[in-house]
Amino acid sequence: MKPVLFWFKNDLRLHDNEALHKAVNSEKPIIFFFCLDERLFKKNDLGFRKADAARYLFLKESVEDLQEKLEGLDAHLMIEFGKAEELIPKLVKKYGIQTIFAEREYASEELEIIDNLKASLPEETELDFSWGKTLYHIDDIPFSIDKIPLTSKAYRIPTGKKTSVRDTFKTPKKLKAFKEVESTDFPGYRKCGFYKKELDAVSIYEKGGEAAALERLEEYTFGSENLTGYRWSRNKSMGMDYSSKFSPYLAVGSLSPRTIYFKIQEYEKKIKKNQSTWWLVFELVWRDYFTFKAMRIGNAIFKTEGFRKKKLEFKNDQKLFQRWCEGKTGIPFVDAHMRQLNQTGYMSNRGRVNCASFMVHDYQIDWTWGAAYFESKLIDYDVTSNWMNWHMQAYEIWYTNPIHQSLKYKSADFIRNWIPELKNENDFSVYLPWENDVSDYPKPDELFDKWGRSINKIKKKFED
Ligand code: FAD
Repeated sequence: MKPVLFWFKNDLRLHDNEALHKAVNSEKPIIFFFCLDERLFKKNDLGFRKADAARYLFLKESVEDLQEKLEGLDAHLMIEFGKAEELIPKLVKKYGIQTIFAEREYASEELEIIDNLKASLPEETELDFSWGKTLYHIDDIPFSIDKIPLTSKAYRIPTGKKTSVRDTFKTPKKLKAFKEVESTDFPGYRKCGFYKKELDAVSIYEKGGEAAALERLEEYTFGSENLTGYRWSRNKSMGMDYSSKFSPYLAVGSLSPRTIYFKIQEYEKKIKKNQSTWWLVFELVWRDYFTFKAMRIGNAIFKTEGFRKKKLEFKNDQKLFQRWCEGKTGIPFVDAHMRQLNQTGYMSNRGRVNCASFMVHDYQIDWTWGAAYFESKLIDYDVTSNWMNWHMQAYEIWYTNPIHQSLKYKSADFIRNWIPELKNENDFSVYLPWENDVSDYPKPDELFDKWGRSINKIKKKFED
């Protein structure tokens, strides 16, 4: 019998995968395929890759875990390096594939790949794509994409009232794999243009893969019951407990938002229902909202001028941008977070807000540069969450004062942890290192008047 193709993309899981469910139900033998897109590793105009070392490593672990799971079900995962729109037509021709199952795309570059793929396939090849990214299914929300409200509340309230979360799809127990193909290895780092020292310089924040994702879900909920305190801890930066750390798994699809939702419902019944359980679902709804809103707006989400018709003046000083990227601005709260990002591929939401605000409003650098840098580094990089949040920091919300926030969120230990030059300093010097002339640690380019009150507050609190 001729096989069908199952094309894994950002849905690297067997649980709650509608496209996979459909492929299994076709009762045809399946070729399981993943393409590591070579374009991820090309350097952009700013000099960095779309996906740097931490993203490469996290993706590798996620795909290899999936491959292991498939092999456990007597199947395989064929992994290739290149461009899907060129590789898939070759497979279609070679094996006489008539149907391709995959998750539906929503952002412009990915949609262009699909268009190019369609153009290279024989007319009779069927593309059976299923929506899988969001908590609420795209067909269930009470708005068509061109009418998605431009404010979150106007989206969230009617959606919460009129829409329910669909049931999850079960993990298949058996797979009918096409026997003429075998698993192939994840491309090595050299093929992607990395040097070993680049990989050695990072230690990714979480282990990749569906197994690790489901473990983390269990641990954050029933294991530690940290979920109960989420509402009050979510703005911190230090350690694993203050927030869920589901984002890297959601980004590559090792964990489905519906699976999280139903776990929270179970938690509410068996352990505790409170503001925290509500809030975590609220954040998943934000993720949905950014996805749908970005679909409405289209390519403007990637453009410097944004979609709000507001104007910002950018100076785009390359040297300052470099300092920001390296975590050497001399502002400890910003630098600690940037160094954490560079080393681990993760940063807390509080860190992201502060680093983005600082880069755009204090350094006056084009927000798209920062968004592109985060894209390169974040293991949880998600096209709409990243670009919509950056846009929001630039054009839609108030300035965030990093001196004030460093004290408000009691970040001294976090700063000591990520900035070795400040490791042995007291709290005063950790918050305001320029005041005590801490050697080795860079001096800020400028101390803005708007920080004056916060600086004085720290002085009053900690100076002898
Ligand atoms: P939790 O606080 O435990 O939240 C649970 C989940 O809700 C997250 O995993 C995430 O899926 C979702 N969520 C929470 N906050 C947001 C938000 N503001 N926007 C969209 N979804 C949210 N998140 C990404 O997943 N990928 C990105 O590329 C990304 N880039 C960002 C860039 C900037 C400038 C900012 C300010 C935020 C960005 N975020 C991004 C949102 C947020 O910072 C992360 O989702 C969160 O820090 C991930 O940690 P967590 O899983 O422990 O979050």
